[in-house]
Amino acid sequence: MTVSRSLLIAGFAACSSLVAAAEPALLIRCGRLIDGRAEQAAAGVDVQVVGGRITAIGKGLSAPPGARTIDLSNATCLPGFIDLHAHILINPGDVLADSLRKSSARKALEGLRNARVRLQNGFTTLRDPGDEDLYYSTIEIRDAIARGDFEGPRLFVAPHMISSTGGHGDFNDLAADLAIQIPNVVVDGPDAMRKAVREEIKHGADWIKLAATGGVMSAADDPRAQAFTDEEFRAAVDEAHRHGRKVTVHAIGAGGLKAALRAGVDCIEHGVLIDDEAIAMMKQRNVPLVPTIYVLDYIIEQGEKTGIPADRIAKARSLQAERDRAIRAAFAAGITIAFGSDTIFPHETANREFARMVRLGLSPMGAIKSATANAAGVLGIEKDTGTLEVGKRADVVAVPRDPLGDVTALESVSFVMKDGRVVRPAAEETR
Ligand SMILES: [Zn+2]
Repeated sequence: MTVSRSLLIAGFAACSSLVAAAEPALLIRCGRLIDGRAEQAAAGVDVQVVGGRITAIGKGLSAPPGARTIDLSNATCLPGFIDLHAHILINPGDVLADSLRKSSARKALEGLRNARVRLQNGFTTLRDPGDEDLYYSTIEIRDAIARGDFEGPRLFVAPHMISSTGGHGDFNDLAADLAIQIPNVVVDGPDAMRKAVREEIKHGADWIKLAATGGVMSAADDPRAQAFTDEEFRAAVDEAHRHGRKVTVHAIGAGGLKAALRAGVDCIEHGVLIDDEAIAMMKQRNVPLVPTIYVLDYIIEQGEKTGIPADRIAKARSLQAERDRAIRAAFAAGITIAFGSDTIFPHETANREFARMVRLGLSPMGAIKSATANAAGVLGIEKDTGTLEVGKRADVVAVPRDPLGDVTALESVSFVMKDGRVVRPAAEETR
């Protein structure tokens, strides 16, 4: 046998990969450009891409030798979007039984599909803040995309949401005499918390996620109640930080939110009932808020026809008016806002979060920055992506209209490039 094994493997990899090869050089002609830093859009700007990185930005650039020109002269170019609260394993219309009925392997396949839907809609980077899976399929999806086995968004993963007994991650409406292992992590006490954090890190967690309060989509728990003791929060943060991981928390009520902040968590999800004291603490400590506005509205507006149980819809209704006031106050106070969708709804509609942010007082540019520069800062990848600047990865999105005039333009992404590879070619009206 003279054919080397490595040659065979290389040949197999070359024809089996679903990822198109990057073009060596490209010139993108943008009608308008929002770079994620400046407060205004710039008209008629070109972006030069070589080897997957941005090598020049300016007016009237000439194409490098051999480069293809992409004409987006009728469109607005933006940095690739980042969603910090993407549940890629959840499918719209899933009920409790689906999470128990599907194997981890099936969840991995569905999660990969959902992640790719997000990429097609402009999200070049996602953070999954915990999904229901006995194993670690979101980690496998992250790694398969990073290896180049599949096209997909860059992923940062908290494998599970760590919850207390009877908390947001527990399955509280199962019969008391049904002894099954639920596909979530439920712990009580600081030692059990430390072990859970270590298990998550052992299996590849980038982030640790805790349920700091009860939730909306869970049965028989109180969204206003603090779910863990101060000691349990401190144990989680100490363990995660010692291993160089950040902690984010699901928080509806202000009490649990502030207990988590005092313990030193790095990020807050939802913040539905955030109060002035919590806002001041977040401002002082520079802790970002991921407000996930659309999901609560979706439960109220579409919950009945999509089969969401009535008690969950009632919970959402009981919070909406207070939520509107609380999130408006958080926006007005100028704390760091980062984009999160909380996709329990069709993944292609996650872009609706932008307009919901604007409805509660964020400017369209503020909403765009929340999903670009700000979210990159939360993930610690701001040197690499999140803005369109020379030296950064060529993660570029285009929409056919001006999103600063009409924020819903961000729901019609018509071109997507990730790492200099075109993953969604420009639609006719964009060119
Ligand atoms: Zn969530």
